[in-house]
Amino acid sequence: IIISVLIRHQTMDTLKNNWFTETCELWPGGTFSIEVKEVLHSEKSEYQDIHVFDTKHFGKVLVLDGIIQCTEKDEFSYQEMISFLPLCCHKNPEKVLIVGGGDGGVAREVAKHPLVKEIVQVEIDAKVIEVSKKYLPFMAVGFDSPKLTLHVGDGFEFMKNHSQEFDVIITDSSDPVGPAVSLFQENYFALMKSALKPNGIVCSQAGTVWNDLELVSNTLKICKNQFPSATYAYASVPTYPSGQIGFVIGSLDKDIVFDQPQLIFSEEDEKAMNLRYYSSAIHKAAFVLPTFVKHRLA
Ligand code: SAM
Repeated sequence: IIISVLIRHQTMDTLKNNWFTETCELWPGGTFSIEVKEVLHSEKSEYQDIHVFDTKHFGKVLVLDGIIQCTEKDEFSYQEMISFLPLCCHKNPEKVLIVGGGDGGVAREVAKHPLVKEIVQVEIDAKVIEVSKKYLPFMAVGFDSPKLTLHVGDGFEFMKNHSQEFDVIITDSSDPVGPAVSLFQENYFALMKSALKPNGIVCSQAGTVWNDLELVSNTLKICKNQFPSATYAYASVPTYPSGQIGFVIGSLDKDIVFDQPQLIFSEEDEKAMNLRYYSSAIHKAAFVLPTFVKHRLA
């Protein structure tokens, strides 16, 4: 997995004639390009290359190591789904840990859930937080939540020092290259398991079924090795490769029914929480997999 993602990493990151192109040998014969109005920020942090673009059709765009992390137009889909799927699978998600998520979007969503009292976040790269606060305030607003305690550090190392503490752990990491490699390994899932309270739930960004079915399958296998219940759900995000992204979700509750949300939101609730993608109906649908995926992940 790591080698294949390294290939992807080396072959992208081009900005020509005001078009940013995310190219990839893993996705032969096709690529995604965005027309850029202005490069707002470029730097190399201790961990990765950070770019922020202003674009014609997708608003502000955050790119790390040549890979699009989020765009103003569609980020809500990813942030709502990686947050509300695990939160609503849990009966009482009072204390939540976010690993990664340096743009602040997941903290913004988790803070909306009425049962969440405390959020802890650990992001490895202070520069991503700083840049997001400056250029991406629509996501970085998450850092203003009074529920949140933010740490700068490695999520893998952080997990070693926490036991039976969290109801839900959300890993909003970049792809398995550079600092995020450890967050896709089995010993990370074992550490998360120890950091959970009884019946706790984990949810990790886990790639797309069209380009990375191998990654999805391996991550789910690792999760199943550690958790009595595990599954994969997905959302549509047009600016991710192939327009789709998925999440591996594991639970310590062996009887959990993932596609039945514990808390059902009315349309008024959804409006009040400014939910634009997640709904109780979408929750149920997100676990219904295309036949070829179902067979591969069985
Ligand atoms: N939505 C995005 C995606 O899947 O494309 C992920 C966005 S978020 C910006 C990813 C964050 O994970 C980055 O800010 C990166 O610095 C952080 N990260 C990577 N490895 C990490 C680690 N080991 N511990 C904590 N944070 C990490």
